[in-house]
Amino acid sequence: MVAQSNASADKDRKKVGLAPKLDSGFYGQDIISVSQFTRENLEYIFDVAEEMRAIVKRVGATDLLKGTVLACLFYEPSTRTSSSFIAAMSRLGGTVIPITQGVQFSSVSKGESLPDTIRTLESYADIIVIRHPEMGSAQIAADYARKPIINGGDGVGEHPTQALLDLFTIKEEVGRIDGLHIGMVGDLRYGRTVHSLARLLCLYDVQFSFVSPEILRLPLDVMNKIREHGLPVAETYDVAEIIPDVDVLYITRVQKERFADLAQYEEVKGLYVITPELMKRAKEKMIVMHPLPRVGEISYAVDSDPRAAYFRQMENGMYIRMALLAAVLGKA
Ligand code: ASP
Repeated sequence: MVAQSNASADKDRKKVGLAPKLDSGFYGQDIISVSQFTRENLEYIFDVAEEMRAIVKRVGATDLLKGTVLACLFYEPSTRTSSSFIAAMSRLGGTVIPITQGVQFSSVSKGESLPDTIRTLESYADIIVIRHPEMGSAQIAADYARKPIINGGDGVGEHPTQALLDLFTIKEEVGRIDGLHIGMVGDLRYGRTVHSLARLLCLYDVQFSFVSPEILRLPLDVMNKIREHGLPVAETYDVAEIIPDVDVLYITRVQKERFADLAQYEEVKGLYVITPELMKRAKEKMIVMHPLPRVGEISYAVDSDPRAAYFRQMENGMYIRMALLAAVLGKA
């Protein structure tokens, strides 16, 4: 771990024009699950993300993480998570070891175990982001690592940094989180972004409507968590039924790669498509979100609707990841 006192972190912040900050509680921590977050530390990350956005808009980059190295270890495809982490680290003045273009070019293809790969990367890097097809793999990596591990998606488990940027987007777009009616549509079973966001939203006073075919319903553990918090929840198969009532429509692609039986995938793919016609029935201030990639769930004609928030959501990912890297490395 990169040991650094608050005083020296504050000095670095001062050098790049940022106000001193109290310890966020994230310094040196692994980021594995959204269960690590509270309303207070989310506010903190969101404030830092706003500062990061201001820096990027004003000057493009800072030297806050100069001399630090991030390893990006992706055993599954990624466009946004990997490139936004790389951009985040670059804009903070750090550098990246990118094992993102397919681990086939690394020793993983020679049969190296996850713990050995992690041990190797942590001897070169200060922090590691991992994406892996198996649920629980990020925790396994963290158990072996001395350096902080960030979960960039563990199979059908969680995707905590996506949930942070999703929640940040809701707050930025709508101005609040409490009191909102959230509609989640599509692959609620295998969509890890849905699992993480639904869990995180349990910290707030929200109402849920879930829309999916029977075989893609929300897993019971996530549903139970919502019930434990006493939040109102409804399930339906029909997106048209919920669209006039929701404040946020979070739609996801069907996760083809998680199906053992591709015939079953064919049956449920393409069930939900957000079109301009459907948008006419939505609230004037409703927002449409998508973790992306979309594979037909939102028609391109919706992109010009001001309520289409998915590209702004994607951009927010970089600011959130900048905030998180700075916090975990003790510079936020
Ligand atoms: N990019 C998101 C993820 O990695 C969503 C998706 O792939 O559908 O989970």
